[in-house]
Amino acid sequence: MKWKEQLLNLTPYQPGKSIDQVKKEYSLDKIVKLASNENPFGCSEKVLFTMNQSPSFFALYPDGYASELRSVLAGHLSIQEDQLIFGNGSDEIIQMISRALLSPETNTVMAAPTFPQYRHNAVIEGAQIREIPLVNGEHDLDGMLAAIDENTAVVWVCNPNNPTGNYIKEPALLSFLHKVPRDVLVVLDEAYYEYVVAEDYCNSLDLIQKYENLIVLRTFSKIYGLASLRVGYGIADPQTIKALEPVREPFNVNKFAQASAAAAIEDQNFIEECRRKNREGLEQFYAFCEEYGLEYYPSQGNFILINFNADSNEVFQFLLEKGFIVRSGKALGFQGYVRVTVGSKEQNDGVLDAMGQYL
Ligand code: PMP
Repeated sequence: MKWKEQLLNLTPYQPGKSIDQVKKEYSLDKIVKLASNENPFGCSEKVLFTMNQSPSFFALYPDGYASELRSVLAGHLSIQEDQLIFGNGSDEIIQMISRALLSPETNTVMAAPTFPQYRHNAVIEGAQIREIPLVNGEHDLDGMLAAIDENTAVVWVCNPNNPTGNYIKEPALLSFLHKVPRDVLVVLDEAYYEYVVAEDYCNSLDLIQKYENLIVLRTFSKIYGLASLRVGYGIADPQTIKALEPVREPFNVNKFAQASAAAAIEDQNFIEECRRKNREGLEQFYAFCEEYGLEYYPSQGNFILINFNADSNEVFQFLLEKGFIVRSGKALGFQGYVRVTVGSKEQNDGVLDAMGQYL
């Protein structure tokens, strides 16, 4: 078989160990997973009715256009329905964009470290990858602009950035978008958008009206607490959406995901409450880091990157044996650090206690 050569050198993305795996390996009864930035409070209870379905519901394909979810979401965001595309997680939209626009003749620009799926998909498509190092945990937007040339097809901007939690202030993002050539697609990945509290954060939906070459990605996997169902979406100019639709699998978002996401949107009190508790949780982490003199990145997401000035894998392993799964900074391009998802108060108390024991 004549595989694309780059596939043979590519490791599948491994998002960390599962709870069951860790329970078995370490003979622990209770495991707290704070590794994948999921919502520790679950999802809105208003979603649960969608699971109680008749056999015919299972037998029929989902609505490929996700009409009902589309209508509810467009109403919620005050945008047109034809400005939306849905994916089996925003991961799939990253894949669609890469499939549609990247090839060995193109290059793509991104920060480093950032969310690994941009790079991963670019490798699969054989595109040249231009990674611009973060500066103090922030995107170097001038450096990214300088890397764009006539073969650049896509620029990835992760805001807030995973794994640092940093965000780009509105004026900086506006000036960046103004300077990017209009034939380059800018992907603004806002997976953590609903957690943001910074006042000088941009209004990306307004920007879509102005920039036809901008697509904003959001997800139901984070604050909405529906990671298991896999549903994310892109918001862009209708022409951009139209160009992406042919690379979307016809039935990519399953029925449970569509119905649950639509129900979840209706419960904004739950979202508000999660945002507030996440802020309180982050404050717990900040206070701990300050008490122990640890460097950290102030975060606009539901996770925090902390510098232990030690071997990341060793800190990871210590916490694992205490029953807490976090992410070692080593795999994320931050040796010495660990990234921890903000949990419930009790989970935060537990992981902070374990970290204190390590120190
Ligand atoms: N973008 C970023 C920045 C993320 O952190 C994640 C999940 N970790 C995703 C996209 C993918 O999210 P999903 O596919 O669950 O929508």
